[in-house]
Amino acid sequence: MIDHLIIGGGIAGASVAYFLKQSGAKVAIVDDTGFENPASFAAGAFINPVMGKPSKFKDFADEAFAFCVCFYSQNFPELFNHCGSLIYPKNEKTKEEFAALGAYIPSPYELTDTPPLGAFFVKDSGLISPKALIDAMLEGVDRYEAHIERLEKEGDIWKAGELRAKTVILAQGAVKSIVDEPYLHTQLYGLWGQKSKIKTEANLPYIISSKVHIVAIEGGLGIGATHIRTEEPIPINRADTLRLIEEAREVIDIADFEVTEEAGGMRSASIDHFPLAGAVYDSEKTIERFPSLIHGARLSSEAPSKYEGLYIHTGHGSRAFMLSPYTAKLLAEYITANAPIQKETDPARLLFRYFKKKL
Ligand SMILES: Cc1cc2nc3c(=O)[nH]c(=O)nc-3n(C[C@H](O)[C@H](O)[C@H](O)COP(=O)(O)OP(=O)(O)OC[C@H]3O[C@@H](n4cnc5c(N)ncnc54)[C@H](O)[C@@H]3O)c2cc1C
Repeated sequence: MIDHLIIGGGIAGASVAYFLKQSGAKVAIVDDTGFENPASFAAGAFINPVMGKPSKFKDFADEAFAFCVCFYSQNFPELFNHCGSLIYPKNEKTKEEFAALGAYIPSPYELTDTPPLGAFFVKDSGLISPKALIDAMLEGVDRYEAHIERLEKEGDIWKAGELRAKTVILAQGAVKSIVDEPYLHTQLYGLWGQKSKIKTEANLPYIISSKVHIVAIEGGLGIGATHIRTEEPIPINRADTLRLIEEAREVIDIADFEVTEEAGGMRSASIDHFPLAGAVYDSEKTIERFPSLIHGARLSSEAPSKYEGLYIHTGHGSRAFMLSPYTAKLLAEYITANAPIQKETDPARLLFRYFKKKL
C-alpha cells in the first residue's frame, strides 16, 4: 500500500515527494508523460528574488527565495549554478526609484552603474537544471507512467487507476484538476511560456534578468521566456523567439546568431498569484453547511468540508523552481505532522472567493 501518491511528475510533484519521503513513508508518483515532458523540463529554472516594494506576495516570495537558495545549495550543490544575476529595472521611471528597491532585496547585492538606470547584482541568484533536479528529488520514490482519469474512494483508501493510496496529492500543473471542483477550475489558469537557445558570440558570467532572462550556454545564450495567458498550448513559433531576442538585445550585444532550440510549456497560475498548497475542499458539502458563504461570510480554514486524504500542490506560475521547495516542505509537514498551513497558500481562500463571487 502506498502512503502518499502524487499525481504529476513536474517540480511541484517532485518537491512534495522529496519532503514526504523524509518521514519514511512509502511515496509514489505517477506521470502521464512518462516523466519525459512536464512543463518543468522547459523551464529556464532561474532563481531570482521578486523585485519591488513590500507586499504580501513579496514577503512570501522572499521567504521562499531564502529557503530555496539554502535548500539547493545544501542538497543539490552540483545542480545549482549559483552564478548571481544582474537585475535590470522593469517599470521604474527614475534611477532613484530603482535604487530605492535595494532596501527590499532579501539577500546581498551590489548596485551597479549599468546604463540607463543601473542594475542590481544579486549574488544568491542562480539557475538549476530542471530535469536533473527532478530526477534527484525522486530518488527512492516509486514512479509509474499512467494517465489517471479519476479518483475513487474505497473506505479510507484512494483508488487511482490500478494504484491504491492512503493520501493523494494533485500536482497536475496546468492540466485541469481531476477532481471536479469549480473553485479550482475557475481560479487556476494556464500561462504559456516559450524559450530559445541561440548560437552566438557571447561571454556572460552571470544571468541577466531584464524583460527576459539571459544566460550563457555552451556556444551561445539561452533566452526566456514568454508569458501568455491561454487555455491551450501555443505552437512553438519563430516570431516569439525573435521577440525574445529583440528584448535581450536591449541589454546585451547580440550580433549574428542562429536559433538552435525552441521549447515551451504551460505553467499553472492562480488568480491571486499565490500557489496552492493544502487540502482539497468539497464545495458542495461546504455550501450546504454554510450557505452564508455566498454573502461573504468568513470561516477558518478548518471549517469547510475537505476530501479526507486529498491535497493539492500547484499554481506556482513562472517561479515554480523558486517557490515549490518551500511550499512543498510546508505541505509535507501539514500532511504528516498536522502542522498549520499558511493561509496565503491554503486553497480555502479560493473556495471562499468563489462563493462570494457567485452572488
Ligand atoms: C519556458 C518556461 C520557462 C520557465 N522558466 C522558469 C524559471 O526561470 N524559473 C522558475 O522558477 N520557473 C520557470 N518556469 C515555470 C515552471 O517551469 C512551471 O511553473 C513549472 O514547471 C510547473 O510545474 P508543475 O510541476 O506544476 O507542472 P508540470 O511540470 O507541467 O508537471 C505536471 C505533470 O503532471 C502530469 N499530469 C497532469 N494530469 C495528470 C493525470 N491525470 N495523470 C497523470 N499525469 C498527469 C502532466 O502531464 C505533467 O507531466 C518556466 C516555464 C516555462 C514553460
